Amino acid sequence: MCIFCGKKDESLTEDGLDLHYWKQCLMLQRCDECRQVVEIASLTEHLLRECENRSKFSQCPRCSEAVLTEVLTCHVQGSNCNRKSISVLHLNGKSFKCFRQGFFVISYLFCIL
Ligand SMILES: [Zn+2]
Ligand SMILES: [Zn+2]
Ligand SMILES: [Zn+2]
Repeated sequence: MCIFCGKKDESLTEDGLDLHYWKQCLMLQRCDECRQVVEIASLTEHLLRECENRSKFSQCPRCSEAVLTEVLTCHVQGSNCNRKSISVLHLNGKSFKCFRQGFFVISYLFCIL
C-alpha cells in the first residue's frame, strides 16, 4: 500500500511501489530541478529550502508559492498568481510547475519577458 495516497494494489510490491512513487502517485511529484520525488504538499518548501537549485527560486509575496526568480515579476502580474491550481510555466523550453496544495487542475501560462 502506498503511504502517500493510500492506494492498495497487488502490483504495489517493493519494486512496484518505487514505480508508483515515480509515475503514478497523485500525492507525489518529481522535482524538475533535482529529480527528487517530493510530496506535492511540500513541494514549495522543497523548492525554497531543500532543493539543490533552491537559489533559483523565490517565494511569491502574494500566493507564497515557490516561483523561479526570473519570472517572479511576470508571475505576480499574471493570472497564475493566487490561483488554486497547478500551473505549468514554460520558459526557454523548460517547464516549471507551480502547485497549490490539494488541487489537480493544470493550467498553462506562457510567460514572455
Ligand atoms: Zn501513491
Ligand atoms: Zn528539487
Ligand atoms: Zn504568486
